[in-house]
Amino acid sequence: MFGPLVVKPGSSRKNKTGSWRTELTPKFLKKNCTGCKLCMSVCPEGCIIEGSEKNQLACDYEYCKGCGACAVVCPKGDIIMVKESKEEAK
Ligand code: SF4
Ligand code: SF4
Repeated sequence: MFGPLVVKPGSSRKNKTGSWRTELTPKFLKKNCTGCKLCMSVCPEGCIIEGSEKNQLACDYEYCKGCGACAVVCPKGDIIMVKESKEEAK
């Protein structure tokens, strides 16, 4: 049964951090990244994931809350915070 997992209607939407994200979302430019992983180490959600190449980092938007810490610490300015449109979020 699913009953114990969802106490109130709609509450399951709060389980993923991304559902209460700010309007901003990080965009990984993948241009100057050196693979220092500083962004990964400061992300409070641990949602930045490595790709196959050193400069192919990305984040799991299901869990990112848009705090912007990754963009602040990136020494290469390779992460920018962009406004997320409703269409893109779907
Ligand atoms: S904006 Fe915050 S939560 Fe999202 S990936 Fe960057 S550090 Fe992590
Ligand atoms: S902090 Fe910037 S340079 Fe370092 S791994 Fe993250 S995106 Fe790449």
